[in-house]
Amino acid sequence: DASESDIHQRKVREEALRARAAAVTGPGKLKDGTPVILLGNAGDAGGSLAAARAGAEGIGLFRTELLFLESQTEPTIDEQISMYRRVFEPMKGHRVVVRTLDAGSDKPVPYINAPHEENPALGVRGWRLTRTNDEVLERQLQAISRAAEGADIDLWVMAPMVNTPAEARHFAERARAVGIKKVGVMIETPAAAIHADKVLAEVDFGSFGTNDLTQYVMASDRLDSRLSDMTSTWHPAVLRVIQIAASAAGHLIKPIGVCGEAAANPHLAAVLLGLGVNSLSMAPSAISEVRGFLSTVDLATCQAAAQKAISAPSVEEAEALAKEILEGANK
Ligand code: PEP
Ligand code: MG
Repeated sequence: DASESDIHQRKVREEALRARAAAVTGPGKLKDGTPVILLGNAGDAGGSLAAARAGAEGIGLFRTELLFLESQTEPTIDEQISMYRRVFEPMKGHRVVVRTLDAGSDKPVPYINAPHEENPALGVRGWRLTRTNDEVLERQLQAISRAAEGADIDLWVMAPMVNTPAEARHFAERARAVGIKKVGVMIETPAAAIHADKVLAEVDFGSFGTNDLTQYVMASDRLDSRLSDMTSTWHPAVLRVIQIAASAAGHLIKPIGVCGEAAANPHLAAVLLGLGVNSLSMAPSAISEVRGFLSTVDLATCQAAAQKAISAPSVEEAEALAKEILEGANK
């Protein structure tokens, strides 16, 4: 039966491709040699070690809120310094992108966030806590800067939930005032993405938080499984918003990465690169598969797949059309 032998042949091809991909090591790059910086997400020293073992070129998202969530009171500056140093340790000579405290919404910290908010995902969370708990963020910036002294890492620091150029400028001034050289913002609200030409002009780099960006573009709670069909980053509306901000970063010649779940999906990662992203940060366990897949596609193929995906009417079609192009490149 012809279709059965087709299926068999495709399986054999996919198997061979997977085996080849798994054998790929070293810095991330596309088939045509275009470099793609592959980084790991970490929340503690164990995560940083796992990223190092997975061959990550650094940490692209250090979620500092874990330390705060595990504590009953605000960790002192010295406690923060020692914890941050443990995360930096396995990454000597590499980039570490530290994210300032992202307390609130799905990660409320009882001694920092308001006990009740009507709409916490849209409330005082992330960098917005400068409105209510400014000293906490000031102490954290000092701790980050001091922890990096002598740590032999390339320190980058970014703030979550930055929404406007004024907030980006405020963060950059505050971080630079404590001696931090590389300052950036997460792009995770529609306002920040649509206004990225002005937001990114204030800082040195940007990083898409595609989990929140998808939730806010689609107005759908990322934690509500009843809405899971609405919270895929494959949604062409989300990809269009990403494209706006990625091309603004390109015009400004500023690095722009992705550190949400989307970066861990090989096909979606390729589409994001096609939209102009230059680094991908993900769970360390995903790095090998993403590295392997990216070594099978050229930048032009990623760009073609991205164009197809943003022109599609639905998640399913965006994903199917992009995959067809990306897999077709290996036939
Ligand atoms: C994101 O929103 O995509 C992100 C990386 O941050 P978090 O998942 O910690 O909110
Ligand atoms: Mg987020």
